[in-house]
Amino acid sequence: MAIKRSGNQNSSPNVKSDLLSPEVTAQERNANPNFEPPEASLRPQTLDDYVGQRDLKEVLRIAIQAAQGRQEAIDHLLLYGPPGLGKTTLALILAEEMQVRCKITAAPALERPRDITGILLALQPGDILFIDEIHRLNRLTEELLYPAMEDFRLDITMGKGQSAKVRSLNLARFTLVGATTKVGSLTSPLRDRFGLIQRLRFYELDELQQIILRTAGLLAVPISPAGAQAIALRARGTPRIANRLLKRVRDYAQVKQQPEITPTLASEALDLYQVDKRGLDWTDRLVLQTLIEQFQGGPTGLEAIAAATGEDAKTIEEVYEPYLLQIGYLARTSRGRIATAAAYEHLGLTPPNPLLPW
Ligand code: ADP
Repeated sequence: MAIKRSGNQNSSPNVKSDLLSPEVTAQERNANPNFEPPEASLRPQTLDDYVGQRDLKEVLRIAIQAAQGRQEAIDHLLLYGPPGLGKTTLALILAEEMQVRCKITAAPALERPRDITGILLALQPGDILFIDEIHRLNRLTEELLYPAMEDFRLDITMGKGQSAKVRSLNLARFTLVGATTKVGSLTSPLRDRFGLIQRLRFYELDELQQIILRTAGLLAVPISPAGAQAIALRARGTPRIANRLLKRVRDYAQVKQQPEITPTLASEALDLYQVDKRGLDWTDRLVLQTLIEQFQGGPTGLEAIAAATGEDAKTIEEVYEPYLLQIGYLARTSRGRIATAAAYEHLGLTPPNPLLPW
């Protein structure tokens, strides 16, 4: 029953990690629209079209209405949560609903001070500036943002040394929408400058099913509601993955000359791609199996699991663990990670009796 690295190592893990990665792949970003629609074309355009995240949508509706009533820009908004849950999409929807422009950038693209100053100076009143991975801003850029966010002012240092002077320029009243997967890594001065801080959560099964049916409609792919549910079950609570799995199942249906995606067809296709019934891939199972077989289910530190599986500790923590925690296969305690009874059952193993020792 042990999952060994050999054999699988060169083939499946790469295929699966692309298929189940919550990050957008280069291929998806740059897809040839004649061949496969780029991810952006699947984005919902209005809050009504945006599935799930009910509480968050309500907060945003109120923010939009209040801002429109006062004819002001919306308060700066920080969105946090795992990748692929719809943060960029929300920023674009906000712009659409407020009828303003949205400039999209990411912290790694704002290396030099002039990168951010150029963007800030080009903003028009009400515009939305979306900065992805905002926890990765460098100190200089971050410090330029403080007065920009607070007083819509840009402080530029002219000259060097003793003759250096600070010149202040007025900026348009804009809205900064920051997105991060790691809210804890934001400095407090930056965090404190956001009027709204909102978390996105993983999607429920019925919400993912709805997203898949919507995307299937856009792609003109015939699919039954049960077929959409079968894909939703394996989509790791993440719309980006749901849409990606749908596309691969569509390919399979086409090659097998099947007119409609049914649950059987979806399961066959995703089994082939080695995405299991709860959306776990080879590495997820390896992590759980290692924890159970080598560490008697834990508690075990992340580093020990990383060493035993040959995976990078950070990757386990950021890519694999959030979903395993979410579905309750893994738990975090002060003494380390533990595999739950559900994880034993998923791998076809019997949980120790009495159930688990913690
Ligand atoms: P993030 O910025 O959090 O990484 P994105 O906003 O880029 O995620 O969303 C990834 C994809 O998932 C988008 O192309 C969009 O089609 C889809 N998506 C995300 N959230 C939703 C939603 N609530 N309803 C429908 N589709 C969604």
